[in-house]
Amino acid sequence: MNKPGREVMYRREAMELTIRSVTQLKEIMSLPIVILPTTEKWDCHQCGICCRGSLIPLYDEDLARLRSQKWEEHPEFRNTPVMVRNQSSKKAFRLAHRADGSCVFLSDQGLCRIHSELGFEAKPTICRVFPLQLVPRNGKVVLTARRACPSAAADRGQLLKQHLPFVQQFIRDGRLSTKAIEPPPLKAGEQRNWKTVEFVLETVSHLLLDERFPPVRRMVHTLQFANLLSNAKTKPMEDKKLTELIKTLAQLVPDESKHFFDDRRPPSGYARMVFRSMGIEFARLHPQFRPIPSWSHRIQLLNTFFRLVRGGGPLPEIQPPFPQVRLEQLELPLGLLDPSIDYPLARLIEATSASYIYALADRKGWSVVESIRGLVSLFPVGLWLLRWVSHGRNPTAEDMVHIVVSLDRGQGFASLTGPLHRFRLQMLSSGELERLVVWYAR
Ligand code: SF4
Repeated sequence: MNKPGREVMYRREAMELTIRSVTQLKEIMSLPIVILPTTEKWDCHQCGICCRGSLIPLYDEDLARLRSQKWEEHPEFRNTPVMVRNQSSKKAFRLAHRADGSCVFLSDQGLCRIHSELGFEAKPTICRVFPLQLVPRNGKVVLTARRACPSAAADRGQLLKQHLPFVQQFIRDGRLSTKAIEPPPLKAGEQRNWKTVEFVLETVSHLLLDERFPPVRRMVHTLQFANLLSNAKTKPMEDKKLTELIKTLAQLVPDESKHFFDDRRPPSGYARMVFRSMGIEFARLHPQFRPIPSWSHRIQLLNTFFRLVRGGGPLPEIQPPFPQVRLEQLELPLGLLDPSIDYPLARLIEATSASYIYALADRKGWSVVESIRGLVSLFPVGLWLLRWVSHGRNPTAEDMVHIVVSLDRGQGFASLTGPLHRFRLQMLSSGELERLVVWYAR
């Protein structure tokens, strides 16, 4: 078996409870599980998208179950391992993949072999619970769905509350794993307690969900809030004073953001270059993009990447869904979009902010300010990718659903959670990210 294209594998999250400390586990387990006010729906439609391009870590019980299923006796798996050691941690295992990045158990009909031969319960834990996610917040645990699944991204299926009995049973069976994390720093070098960090996150949620303003304004307000917070001399402040300051900053942002809409100056060439280098990372996570494990394909991708960063001329077709296009064409206005096209992108931002996933995701070393910029950057990236996939025709809601899948996959993708991506966002933090939001929202 060839090694999968590692560079396009994202880590699929478990429905693990990210808790503030192990000692709080008991307390948190007794909290009510609630659904977000932004109505979320989901059912598995067996599209098989989550079985391609994702790394599935295996727990001890998964290893035992897979071994007991004796796949090595199956003619098809005699010389094909079904699990391999993780490259990052040699002690841990994950499901094996074929050379094209699809799960070793994915059949030609797009179905899971374990599920079809042995039933739902026989599958590894993460495959059973994805895309459901539990996120603890003040006095409650929020049940939400990761939008790396197209059904969740499109809100297709039953209301999430219909899945509560399954989640409760899962917890009762003691299958919920836990991960204790410290509060992320507010900004570089400034550590605060969870209460203060949560207050900042609540404020960000309010800004992103503020229905008095259209989505593009909310994005810019949130970025301005991050900038004001980043520039304020908050380190010597006590938590109470800082809380007051945060309230004041949130009130200031509409006025502080006005000039971006008054002058509508385009982003600089340099900002667009940095932005495109981000955009291509998300493009590689598109569910219809299938990397071919060959050197010629890699060279073609590299060529596309350099042309994108250099910023001129035609881009070759890098397989469906990305057609041949001239870079200049990706800068043209999209015009007024049908609300069904805007909807999945707006819902990604809403659900992510309301559930705090963006701040509690496993982004080692990221500050809250950086995570806010990372979240809002999804908005212009999504609209830039929409220009590309729909080049030469009208964009559709399905285009946006698949783009949202790529954007959410980015949360588990090394190139979009590591130091280089933080550096890119830092380079855009002097007002250029705001200009990119306004520019690509045209
Ligand atoms: S991506 Fe979603 S709908 Fe598709 S198989 Fe996975 S869980 Fe089911």
